[in-house]
Amino acid sequence: MIDYKCFELHTHTINSDGQFTTEALCESARQYLYDAIAVTDHNTMSALEDITPELIKRTLPVIPGIEWTTFFGHLLVIGAEKYIDWRFALPENIDTYIAEIKAVNGIVGIAHPFNVGSPLCTGCYWDFKIHNWNNVDYIEVWSEPFPQERFKNNLAFNWWTKLLNRGYKLAAGSGRDWHGPDKEDVLTSATYLGLQDGIITGVTVKEALAKGRTFVTCGPVLHITLSNAFGTCGLGETAAAGECTLTIHLDESKRRSVWERFGLRTKFIQIVHNGTTVQKIPCDGVYTGTLSLNLSPGWVRVEGYGYYNYKGKYNIDDHKLLVFSSPIFIGMRGCNT
Ligand SMILES: [Zn+2]
Ligand SMILES: [Zn+2]
Repeated sequence: MIDYKCFELHTHTINSDGQFTTEALCESARQYLYDAIAVTDHNTMSALEDITPELIKRTLPVIPGIEWTTFFGHLLVIGAEKYIDWRFALPENIDTYIAEIKAVNGIVGIAHPFNVGSPLCTGCYWDFKIHNWNNVDYIEVWSEPFPQERFKNNLAFNWWTKLLNRGYKLAAGSGRDWHGPDKEDVLTSATYLGLQDGIITGVTVKEALAKGRTFVTCGPVLHITLSNAFGTCGLGETAAAGECTLTIHLDESKRRSVWERFGLRTKFIQIVHNGTTVQKIPCDGVYTGTLSLNLSPGWVRVEGYGYYNYKGKYNIDDHKLLVFSSPIFIGMRGCNT
């Protein structure tokens, strides 16, 4: 059985430019009610020396990662079994480096692709030219707290959608890019990963990201399945084109203490098929229902919109994206694959 768990996939410690010790990061993550985190320091995995069984027992599971931090972009590498030298990666040859990461069973995620580069954030903007998208597992669509308020995240969301329309099977992720204790009260996103039997290990986490079993949220949780004459598919799977039933469950029961002070409320759900909204369903913080759809080859995802309090501004007519799923892919007619 697939069970979804809550992750923060992009964090830093004093081993690179973070303010957290590894222990302080793990303790803060536990207080934020994440089920686990990935540690992704810039170009180093030194934090792993701090991650003892005792620390994990006291706080939460930690998945090893690294953020390749280059002049041409930042790449999140999760669970690679060997260090790959990134120093000579160039826009023209990045496919070769990504293939090397895949060869040592690492997960590849593009970090904050539209961050503006600056002397403080060298190479944050994604300038690498990828030809083989099959080796990229996910895009960090949302970056930093209050992700909906950041224009760069709109650009990343649209880019991800365009890549899906071009036929690439890319999951969505989010990353707080957590560097230290919060200076102000912030609403942050999380990435839920669909893990085999809900068990958190490097293997199950990598499998969920590789297979696209993810959804990104600032609060609500989403569960989606698509059924047709050939069976039932979940996120990341491929269903046959044609008549189907999409089952959606959304609720706001999880990790409420982390976000409820922002007055967040989901007010409608949108079904997006190949980049176009095909259904819009009103709800009020909870929805369970089924929809009959006739889908052509491509993909379908579910998005939840609503409102929340941002810096004292609270407009219940201003609906913002609160949660979105990775796609269920739609193949040719005939059978689910
Ligand atoms: Zn970065
Ligand atoms: Zn970072």
